[in-house]
Amino acid sequence: MDTDPKVFVISGPSGAGKGTLTEILLKRVPSLARSISATTRKPRPDEVDGVDYYFLTGEEFKKRIKSNDFLEWAIVHDNYYGTLRSMVEKDLAAGKDIAMVIDVQGAASVKKKMPDAVLIFIEPPSMKELVQRLKARNTESAVELARRLKNAEAEMMLAKNYDYVVINDDVNRAAGELVSIVEAEKAKN
Ligand code: 5GP
Repeated sequence: MDTDPKVFVISGPSGAGKGTLTEILLKRVPSLARSISATTRKPRPDEVDGVDYYFLTGEEFKKRIKSNDFLEWAIVHDNYYGTLRSMVEKDLAAGKDIAMVIDVQGAASVKKKMPDAVLIFIEPPSMKELVQRLKARNTESAVELARRLKNAEAEMMLAKNYDYVVINDDVNRAAGELVSIVEAEKAKN
């Protein structure tokens, strides 16, 4: 028998590997759909509108806040990010489990509105490793990099509010752990 669909919230500092781990998770757990967020951040060269994010102008985003279109929204690294209510409702109605890759403020809002949501925090093995990964990724300017590192420290302090913490020391190991958590939560009575 199918169980009720579940919401999984995945957070962690920029560069911890949330994106890569979530991609593996989505491939291994076919019932999971990733909620596509809206943002006012400019697209990175490899990002596609409607696939990675819905890229909106500040004006469009604020209009959608006024129309109550967001389940949650937050300002992260000086840009707006939000989860569209319609996206989540559509997937839940279709019986899909949902993976939301959102920041710590958004995770707290979702937990308040959906107490059954499962919160998973992805941590880098150390701050030193995080700095190296962010530099190697080379997608941010020096100013942006500094901002993301400063936020990382604040975010890591909030890991204790999460149901699970996965340390991304090795991608395959961490992905295996993430899949086990999701499968165990889905099998829970
Ligand atoms: P990036 O710019 O690297 O794609 O994402 C920056 C941060 O914004 C990450 O911590 C990411 O999880 C968070 N984020 C992405 N989408 C959302 C969202 O819909 N809501 C919230 N609150 N945070 C989000």
